[in-house]
Amino acid sequence: MLPQWIIEKKRDNEELTDTEIQNFISGFVSGSVTDYQASAFAMAVYFNGMSPDETAALTEAIMWSGSIVDTSSIRKPIIDKHSTGGIGDKVSIVLAPLVASCDIAVPMIAGRGLGITGGTLDKLESIAGYQTEISEHDFLKIVNECGCAIIGQTAEIAPADKRLYAIRDVTGTVPSIPLITASILGKKLAAGIDGLVMDVKSGRGAFMKTRADAKKLAESISSVGARLGKPVKVLITNMDRPLGRTVGNSLEIIESIETLKGNGPVDLTELTLELAAQMLMLAKRAESRNVALTLLNSKLKSGEALEVFSKMVTLQGGDPACVDDYGVLPQAPIKHMLLSKSSGYITDVDPEKIGRASLLLGAGRSNADDTINHSVGLSEIKQIGEPISKDEPLAIVHAADDKSLSAAMTLLEQSFEVQTAQPEQAELIHEVLETKGVGIEY
Ligand code: URA
Repeated sequence: MLPQWIIEKKRDNEELTDTEIQNFISGFVSGSVTDYQASAFAMAVYFNGMSPDETAALTEAIMWSGSIVDTSSIRKPIIDKHSTGGIGDKVSIVLAPLVASCDIAVPMIAGRGLGITGGTLDKLESIAGYQTEISEHDFLKIVNECGCAIIGQTAEIAPADKRLYAIRDVTGTVPSIPLITASILGKKLAAGIDGLVMDVKSGRGAFMKTRADAKKLAESISSVGARLGKPVKVLITNMDRPLGRTVGNSLEIIESIETLKGNGPVDLTELTLELAAQMLMLAKRAESRNVALTLLNSKLKSGEALEVFSKMVTLQGGDPACVDDYGVLPQAPIKHMLLSKSSGYITDVDPEKIGRASLLLGAGRSNADDTINHSVGLSEIKQIGEPISKDEPLAIVHAADDKSLSAAMTLLEQSFEVQTAQPEQAELIHEVLETKGVGIEY
């Protein structure tokens, strides 16, 4: 079947067969399907959607487009976590060593920041020497030695996703639920995991701006996971405010280490523990959420989770001195206080504006090949519900120069809202979707 016939069928809103989807994706990887045909295909899917069967077939086609990581040498349950991304979301950096300290393997393949959301790899690269591009052999060796590793997508893992995502990024076809589902699950399942916990973010700082869209994506991911026989537990969480009190690469590393030391902000700690508890239950390391939370809290308190982090950094070539001395991390020359113009309570912190401001400071990328500045961003960000006095700092802005500082300040001055009445606290975790009848056998 010619690729154009498959595109025409999807354009006319007909259901594609598994074979048609497999042929299209394998042709795309081998070069017989061109980039412009892939763009047209993505746009047809964007407008007409896909049935659960088609989405599952696309996920499998992406998963098998490269090699599957051979995790047979790992003699523990292998569970990963993935987030759809948000402002200040540094959960993976705390969660991977924390879960690994509970005797679960976490081979995490993470992404870079693009647009206003930061990326776990960029944050970790603030640590001198930390390698994110390592061979599959070394990746598995590190996971076997310390229980976790966090690296970037290799050329062998789900190459169809890498190319299709780049095309979607420039053709307005990223926000499609079947395409996002297949992209995330295709590459995660290629990493040879037993189960996955997904954090689908909802709100102004997320891909999915509304609860209704976040729910549709969550249900799609959960049902495709079940169809492919992989337990995927999905949480829908609040991204209508930044997570934690820092945004920016090295600043987020400091906050992650503080959280591993038990001194993290309440929201970051709570979300990390909740996602980690779900991983422990998927791995059958805990029979209930309460048992899981008790174990996880004990690993934070004893310092075992921090020790795993330090070991992972060392094994990935990084300097573990950052655990005890934040002075070795990149520091911005300018530290400027963003002062409140009135007294009252913080009633809103707009994550989208904070994300755009950190981009203007140089913490993120507008194009995939932009270089980033690891030292810049925001710290000590006040959170919704906290009292504030006039001329008290709403946040500390870390800038490389006056020009980027003044560009960011215009946005930052509109990012916080202060009113006299204390607002109600919005929930952090909106929903935990039940996995439909799929379990892990050990
Ligand atoms: N993250 C991914 O990995 N893929 C998408 O399509 C969207 C977010």
